[in-house]
Amino acid sequence: MYRGVMIIGEQRGGELHPVTYELLARGRALADKLSEELSCVVLGHDMERFAEGIIQRGADVVYIVDNPLLRNFLPRPYTSVLTRLAKEVKPEIVLAAATTQGRTIMPLVAAKLDTGLTADCTGLDIDPLDRSLLQTRPAIGGNVMATIKTPASRPQMATVRPKSTKPLSADKARSGRVVLKSYEKDMFTTCEELVRFVKDATQDVNVQDADIVVSGGKGLKTRDNFCMIEELASLFGAAVGATRDVVDLGWVGYPHQIGLSGKTVSPKLYIALGLSGSVQHLAGMQTSETIVAINKDPDAQIFKVADFGIVGDLFDVVPELIEKLKERKNGKLRREG
Ligand SMILES: Cc1cc2nc3c(=O)[nH]c(=O)nc-3n(C[C@H](O)[C@H](O)[C@H](O)COP(=O)(O)OP(=O)(O)OC[C@H]3O[C@@H](n4cnc5c(N)ncnc54)[C@H](O)[C@@H]3O)c2cc1C
Repeated sequence: MYRGVMIIGEQRGGELHPVTYELLARGRALADKLSEELSCVVLGHDMERFAEGIIQRGADVVYIVDNPLLRNFLPRPYTSVLTRLAKEVKPEIVLAAATTQGRTIMPLVAAKLDTGLTADCTGLDIDPLDRSLLQTRPAIGGNVMATIKTPASRPQMATVRPKSTKPLSADKARSGRVVLKSYEKDMFTTCEELVRFVKDATQDVNVQDADIVVSGGKGLKTRDNFCMIEELASLFGAAVGATRDVVDLGWVGYPHQIGLSGKTVSPKLYIALGLSGSVQHLAGMQTSETIVAINKDPDAQIFKVADFGIVGDLFDVVPELIEKLKERKNGKLRREG
């Protein structure tokens, strides 16, 4: 009998990765709909200290598999442990983040468990008719959203796009169980070896962690005009985002691309300038807390998701905005001086 929802927590360098809290929010919503328990698995060494925080963010049970050999992510031992645990606990649903780790491990575990896997979901729900997991993700080049079910096998497995959910706030009154699991040594033996970490320099552009993102589209017309976006972003202390068309034109690099084939962001403030709001772009930013759009076309799709919209020519609006921000900044500096 398969019951409950399990999420795979993620750690990097011995620290719990915040994507774990996003997964807990997803898992909690599904577990509540099923009236079942939510469990979270953490593999690593010396990770027990995170268990309380995991419970406060929504878990009923935390499974800690502690071993020095799990300190770094290696696919084989991680696959062996997660497969074994899934066989013991028998969750109905298993979720992981669509990160490098999640994307590597989940197909391996799904194959070992002889079940299906839906990768890169943006939406998850429970079918009220048969309690099965509804797994929604963009399909056919992002032109449709497909909802996929796993009718015949269990567990139902999915990876979830990071930044597509807001974590729950910590509830100190929540209580749960911590289960320490240990396994025989041969579970951890592998021919894989971590040689060294090489930092991906493209990840220095961290639009995903920024509180404010200022994004520009093809409406800026030229690379030189795109400097306005960069100036505005620097005045706001924001990260620079862009549409795919802008990246294809070579105005900024791929790490800035927001959307289906770029990054998903969920900042406090997203400012969209001269971009139409294609379905592929919206897929990467529509969970932003507040969206401000400037576009000269009143029918632009971006206004459908915007909280505040300015219908106007960005070449009039943005320079004025930059001037006002500079005045405010200089005024503040004078007062401080
Ligand atoms: C498989 C696939 C994956 C994709 N992935 C992504 C992705 O990850 N991210 C992404 O962004 N796109 C993606 N796309 C591309 C997407 O379909 C659109 O082509 C793209 O988002 C449009 O970019 P844009 O808004 O900059 O340009 P446009 O759609 O051309 O919009 C330009 C906008 O600027 C406005 N404008 C023009 N001049 C002014 C002015 N002076 N003042 C104010 N407004 C002005 C116009 O009214 C218009 O709305 C993908 C497409 C496919 C098929």
